Amino acid sequence: MKLHVVSHPLVEDALAALRDRRTSSTEFRRLSRRVSLLVAAEATRDLPTVERPVETPLETVPCRVVATRVVAVPVLRAGLGMLDAFLDLVPSAQVGYFGLERNEQTAVARRYYEKVPKDLGDAVVYLLDPMLATGGSAAMAIEGLRGLGAKCVRLLCVVAAPEGVRYLEQHAPDAEVYAAALDRELNPRKFILPGLGDFGDRLFGTE
Ligand code: URA
Repeated sequence: MKLHVVSHPLVEDALAALRDRRTSSTEFRRLSRRVSLLVAAEATRDLPTVERPVETPLETVPCRVVATRVVAVPVLRAGLGMLDAFLDLVPSAQVGYFGLERNEQTAVARRYYEKVPKDLGDAVVYLLDPMLATGGSAAMAIEGLRGLGAKCVRLLCVVAAPEGVRYLEQHAPDAEVYAAALDRELNPRKFILPGLGDFGDRLFGTE
C-alpha cells in the first residue's frame, strides 16, 4: 500500500489551525475544505487526460481534459467535510455514501448506510475519511468498494495514524492513501495523537 503525505506549506498552515482546540467549527469547516483541496489536488495529479480541440475567441487550441470516471465516496459523517473541496476540483465526479459508525467503547466500525454507484470497475474511486485511526472503518469501506468492482481506490484523509497505515497495509494493500499528516500514535481510546480531536464533532459543532 502506498502512503503519500502531502508536503506543502499551506497544508502545514491549515493543519496548525485545525489542530488548535480554540478553532471554532465555522473556521474548522473552512480549514477542512482548504486542506482537502490540497490533498485532493495531489491525489488527482495522475488522472488520465485526452486531447480535445477548444475554440478560443481567437483560434482553435488542443487542450487536455480528464478522461476517466471519478467517484467520490465520503464516509459519513466526517467525510462530508472533504466533499465540497473534492467536487470543486472534479465537478463531474459521481458521489456515493458510506455510513460507518465506530463503537465508542470498542472502536469497532459498523456499516449502517450504503448508497454507492454500482459497477465501479472503470472508475477511480476516492474514499473521503479525514481521520485514519485504527484503519478498521477504512478497510471495511474499501472492502465494500471492491465488492462493487472498484479496482482503483484512493483514501483521502487529513490525519493518519501509523496503526491505521499498518492495518491497511495488511488488509487493503492495493489501496493508496493520501494524507495531510502522519501523526505519532493512537491513545487507548483510539484517538490520534497529537491529532485534532473528533473531526466530525468539531466540523458540526456537536462537541
Ligand atoms: N476519529 C476522529 O475524529 N479523531 C480521531 O482522533 C480518531 C478517529
